[in-house]
Formats: sequence, structure tokens, C-alpha cells
Amino acid sequence: MNIEEIKAKKPIYSGKAKSIYEVDEDKVLIEFRDDITAGDGAKKDVKEGKGYLNALISSYLFKKLEENGIETHFLEYIEPNYMLAKKVEIIPIEVIVRNIAAGSLCRRYPFKEGERLKRPIVQFDYKNDEYHDPMLNEDIAINLGLATEEELKKMREIALKVNEVLKKVFDEVGIELVDFKIEIGRYKDRLVVADEISPDTMRLWDKSSGDILDKDVFRKDLGDVISKYREVAKRLKLI
Ligand code: UDP
Repeated sequence: MNIEEIKAKKPIYSGKAKSIYEVDEDKVLIEFRDDITAGDGAKKDVKEGKGYLNALISSYLFKKLEENGIETHFLEYIEPNYMLAKKVEIIPIEVIVRNIAAGSLCRRYPFKEGERLKRPIVQFDYKNDEYHDPMLNEDIAINLGLATEEELKKMREIALKVNEVLKKVFDEVGIELVDFKIEIGRYKDRLVVADEISPDTMRLWDKSSGDILDKDVFRKDLGDVISKYREVAKRLKLI
């Protein structure tokens, strides 16, 4: 694969931290960039090494999902900061799963930060910056034409399965999976987990020290975010 040749074409999509290039009608190349943003892009920076760490961690976690029978878009990790993936049609819904209360859940509802939830919360947010990613319910999602009732049901099932696998992967390396966001895509007649799964899209707390190992370090100015992402990769024995 000639990365430079593929990248010579314009990306088919360029988001806040990733660019997507078409390889052929069935495959895309995802470039994980060093850009980091928070608050709908209001806070921005560039952190050297972030693209590499997120591509590495994401690739590993997608592989773990596949090993556990969950289909994803993942095909191959390409050093240092690329992922080859199936070309899917992303459903514009951020599927969030929470095990412990944090972030917007505590801002919007009377949950205490750090409180263990009685059962996981699956939440669907509309991926739309103009409307600030409002939370959806099933009727709103269907009326907006985002997904069908069957798809929403399947998405919830996938999200809970992903939660079980990821919780175990992190538990084994002394990390608590607080919450995470996934995106789901349509591929042929199936739904597959797509986009990325990295410390940009999860909350990870060290089990013994409570140390924050995810993007909250950047959001809340808590120190060197890259050293935390590196710690996650080290624990997973990727570096
Ligand atoms: N999340 C994400 N992208 C978003 C919004 C949330 O990856 O656009 C992730 C976030 O990193 C966290 C989880 O989804 O792991 C839940 O986020 P929350 O709703 O608490 O939002 P926040 O407090 O980050 O605004």
C-alpha cells in the first residue's frame, strides 16, 4: 500500500482528529492526527504522538472485539498512525455506554461523579455540532431518519456487548472503564463497530490511584495528556 499516493487525493472526510481517505470502493485509510480538541472544538492543540498512540490502541481494541465475535470495520494497523478499514456508512449517532457516572451525566442529572451505576446506561446522542450533539430518544431518531427501530435495538445490543469486552480488557490491566463512545456503521446488510476506540473516546481511571488516563486530562488541564495515553498503551503491552 502506498500511503503517499492514497493521501495525495483529498480526504473524503476530515474531522477534528482524523482524516479518512478512500483506498477503493470497499476500503478506507484512516489517519489519526495529533490534533486534540474539546468542547465542540472550542479548545484545540496539537500533541505529538497522539495520532500514533490512538491508532495503536484503537487497532488493538477493534481486534479484541473481533476476537469476541463483534464485527468491526477494522482491517489492519499501519505504522505509525494509520488504520485500514472497511468503508461503511456511519450512522450519525454517538452511542455512549456508562458504567460509572462522570462528565455530562453529572452535569445534567443528580448523579455523583464516580458513582457506580446500578446497571450500564446506554445513551444515544445525535452527532451534530450545530445542535451540540443533543440526546436522542428512539422516536426522535426514527423521525429524523437516522436509523430504524430494528437498527436502534441492534445498536443497543452491540453497545452492551462492546462494554463487556472492553471492561474485561481494561480490568485485567488495572484500569476502570468509566464510559466510552462508539460509532456504528452499515456494511452490506450488517451493523459494524466503526470510527475509533481510544483514550479520546473513553474515560479510563487507574484502579488503584484513581489517576485519569484519558482526554479529561486535556479537557480539564490536568497535566501531560500524552504521558497518560502512553500509560494506557503500556498497560495493554502495545509499547
Ligand atoms: N465522547 C466522545 N465524543 C463526544 C462526546 C463524548 O468520544 O463527542 C465520549 C467521552 O470521551 C466520554 C463519553 O463519550 O468517554 C461520555 O461523554 P459525556 O457525555 O460525559 O460528555 P463530556 O462530559 O465529554 O462532554
